[in-house]
Amino acid sequence: LRPRGKVLPEYARAHNRALVLQTLYDAERLSRADLARETGLTRVTISDLVAELISDGLVAVRGHREGSRPGKPAVMLEIDATAHQVIGLDLSEPDRFRGAILDLHGVILHTDQVPLNGSTGDDALAKAVELLDLLRQRTTRPVLGVGVGSPGIVDLAGIVLSAPNLRWTDLPLQQVLEYSSGLPVQVANDANTAALAEHTFGDGFGDVMLVKIGRGVGAGLLIDGVPLFGSRFAAGEIGHVVVDAEGGAPCACGKSGCLETWMSVPSLRAALAEADAAFAEAAAEADAEADAAPSDRDRRRVAVLRAAGEHLGIALAPVVGALNLSEVVLSGPSELLDGPLLDAVIRTVRARTMAEFHGELTVRMATNPDDVVLRGASVLVLADQLGVS
Ligand SMILES: [Zn+2]
Repeated sequence: LRPRGKVLPEYARAHNRALVLQTLYDAERLSRADLARETGLTRVTISDLVAELISDGLVAVRGHREGSRPGKPAVMLEIDATAHQVIGLDLSEPDRFRGAILDLHGVILHTDQVPLNGSTGDDALAKAVELLDLLRQRTTRPVLGVGVGSPGIVDLAGIVLSAPNLRWTDLPLQQVLEYSSGLPVQVANDANTAALAEHTFGDGFGDVMLVKIGRGVGAGLLIDGVPLFGSRFAAGEIGHVVVDAEGGAPCACGKSGCLETWMSVPSLRAALAEADAAFAEAAAEADAEADAAPSDRDRRRVAVLRAAGEHLGIALAPVVGALNLSEVVLSGPSELLDGPLLDAVIRTVRARTMAEFHGELTVRMATNPDDVVLRGASVLVLADQLGVS
């Protein structure tokens, strides 16, 4: 998210401003002298920028440094997280669009939702416009911008190139929402958006792969804190990677044995229902007097979740190995993912990569998986408007 090229003189001030904001954002509370030391900027430049940021309502004075050092105690500064608000939209759920008003630390202050009732195409777009309008009316502070996590493949201009479930093709979503709201809008893929939330608000490192399991399976990748988009903006689209060595269940895409046939929420629920039905059948066949043990039902369910986790691990291992990732985060329904499935993913990835280079590899559930896209959407705005992530 940060500029990596040479900084041109005309951008120097904006660059320094973003540097000061990022430093304060990471540190919570600093004095002007701390800021000068940490950024390498002069005291004069810092004083000048801080005055501007205070007048913009982005930085606030929060008391003095406690301590016994002689002389005037230093004035402490921090990001004023509540003087502005951010609107986040999560368009990734199958039955509804969700939205939230957040502060600058990604704390959710208010949520709203609009049911989809099966709408697609222009009708679904109208629901997104309606939800944004609803939220805009509920804001109580100046709005910094709007961040949107959309399903499908999204380019850097916020055009949804393809979101089959919503029947959106080449939809200039960012432009439509900017026009309807009069606010700056940033649109990104939902899994990439979720990865930003883990990067900024989680305690992870710069390299994160977030696997989002919902109606489909997608992943967001950050390398050294920079999102990876791929040549056609489809990096992380791992749902239709074939993970069955031979055969496998037919997939909507026309292939067989795709990861989604194992790991999407509908596939997982169907496989569990099948296991339950097989158990019920076996129980009925057994002596009516001697009921089948309930643990037998659990055993069948665990086997389903374990097999799904193994297939996810098979898909993830080469990515983890090639990129030397330190962290894989799963986002989706905890009741399905957190347990035997997560354990199987960890075991499979470890077994298939070079353990000596991946000793620190963690595979874990996302923090607050339900809100991860909304909170990531707020990071899209922070990055766009303030240069902070
Ligand atoms: Zn497929």
